[in-house]
Amino acid sequence: MSGDPVLELRNVSYEFPGRRGLFATRQSVRAVDQVSLVVKKGDVLGLVGESGSGKSTLAKIMLGLLKPDIGDVSLSGLRRGEMTRKQVSKQVSFIFQDPYSSLNPRHTVGYTVSYPLYLRGEGSSRERKERAREILEVVGLPSRFLDAYPNQMSGGQRQRAAIARALISNPKLLICDEPTSALDVSVQSQVLNLLLKLREDFDLTMVIISHNMSVIQHMSTNVAVMYLGKIVELNLSEDLFARPRHPYTQLLLKSTLSVAPGAGIPDLRTDTAAREAMREHPSYLCM
Ligand code: ADP
Ligand code: MG
Repeated sequence: MSGDPVLELRNVSYEFPGRRGLFATRQSVRAVDQVSLVVKKGDVLGLVGESGSGKSTLAKIMLGLLKPDIGDVSLSGLRRGEMTRKQVSKQVSFIFQDPYSSLNPRHTVGYTVSYPLYLRGEGSSRERKERAREILEVVGLPSRFLDAYPNQMSGGQRQRAAIARALISNPKLLICDEPTSALDVSVQSQVLNLLLKLREDFDLTMVIISHNMSVIQHMSTNVAVMYLGKIVELNLSEDLFARPRHPYTQLLLKSTLSVAPGAGIPDLRTDTAAREAMREHPSYLCM
């Protein structure tokens, strides 16, 4: 049914512990700070924030690759901690910024793309190869790519193969962490539009992570703005772009639109007063 929660985070926090080394000491970092959100069936949640704001850490928590220190994660109403790996792999897939991290350079694309089926013990090897051929076709890669190696492909083709691998097991939820940031500008929009088309064809619910407001605006039905580990604003995409309310959201939009980067915009890396003001400002959570 449309609108059912596919992913729910309740009050999730995660801290990377500090370390006192011989040569350098690292402070602990609260990368995710009391985040709650719900992604409903059919939503595309855009998660935006500057580098270091905690987006990838939150993605890893959503995928179950990191266990939150406190808080709960549920997939389709089941608590993450009570699900088997197989149950999770049926629900959720991911693509990352660098397709090399999901494509093994020593294996053919056909092998890598069909591997999730092998892991789940689905089909004979011939059936799996056939399914890989079909899914490669769907993402715009002709069947000759079955026997290609990642280093024989362009960045855009590799990201298409990574998408094929993510979709071969028919997940409900696809999490994309900076899916086009490593690609040439000319192929970025092709890959984004492919994702939007697949969303329709596969009835997908998605989380799209980006530091780029235009990518988020193009893709999302809802937007969560992250700053220093917290969600500072959460709203329908239309409303957020028409009426950004948190000063950090306003800042992100200004810096996207501004022709001269930094013109009249405080630099949060150096402007501690502006940074504190953002942190102290109440959040706008409109969902
Ligand atoms: P984003 O994806 O928004 O750029 P990250 O989730 O990668 O942000 O990082 C959030 C914060 O956690 C940053 O301050 C980063 O330095 C820190 N961090 C990320 N990964 C690690 C790690 N493996 N060990 C220690 N700190 C980390
Ligand atoms: Mg990141």
